[in-house]
Amino acid sequence: MPVLVASDLDRTLIYSSAALALTMPDARAPRLLCVEVHESKPLSFMTETAAGLLTELGGLGADTAVFVPTTTRTRKQYQRISLPGPEPKYAICANGGHLLVDGATDEDWHAGVQARLAAECAPLEEVRQYLADSADPSWVRKHRVAEDLFAYLVVERELLPEEWVKELAVWAENRGWTISLQGRKIYAVPKPLTKSAAMREVAHRTGATLTLAAGDSLLDADLLLAADKGWRPGHGELADESWTAPNITALPERGVLAGERILQEFLRATP
Ligand SMILES: [Mg+2]
Repeated sequence: MPVLVASDLDRTLIYSSAALALTMPDARAPRLLCVEVHESKPLSFMTETAAGLLTELGGLGADTAVFVPTTTRTRKQYQRISLPGPEPKYAICANGGHLLVDGATDEDWHAGVQARLAAECAPLEEVRQYLADSADPSWVRKHRVAEDLFAYLVVERELLPEEWVKELAVWAENRGWTISLQGRKIYAVPKPLTKSAAMREVAHRTGATLTLAAGDSLLDADLLLAADKGWRPGHGELADESWTAPNITALPERGVLAGERILQEFLRATP
């Protein structure tokens, strides 16, 4: 039975230059591998050591470890990432809304997710409208809908009123939605749209009996709780709230070095 390794990507395994959080003198900084190019510019990185560890994890083979990228990114945003190691057979995108199998979405899974959302929470259009009406153009840069499943705003973080975010979170909670603030993005995501449900599905399909997970944001909390063992970095929404649980290890590392440590932990926990 393989071990299932479900890991968030952004600010968990891969980092934008703004999120690297390197503190050593430049001359002693780790060498970085660019794993994502966007509009012809380098966008996301991991350390060369982390890249080696991920390749090692992939090289264990599907009978030993199944690595599943588990992200809130849309399929298109996910597909421009080029991770080291073998192409993962499974990937979870759109916060669980799409389960990719050999690069193609599983339509049955997606239909099941849509049915749950229709039954269990307020429709996307209501949330999108609220965001459009209440977010002030002085600090909103972009309004986005992702995969017709959830919405996010790109904001000027320094100008964003904390009070507005709190009010939004209460409004959303009453409608079965969650708010997550990550860097310059505010996500509004339906509560039934979870990474953990998709992870359980992959565990079922692969026969995995041990599940490992890592993540840094509020949208990763359900994934971490659903896994047998989980790790979160020393930065991010969960760390800011000192969030923890019995099966979770809160790591001290921050930034791109946390990604390296998380991969070490995955390998150590894989028999
Ligand atoms: Mg993340």
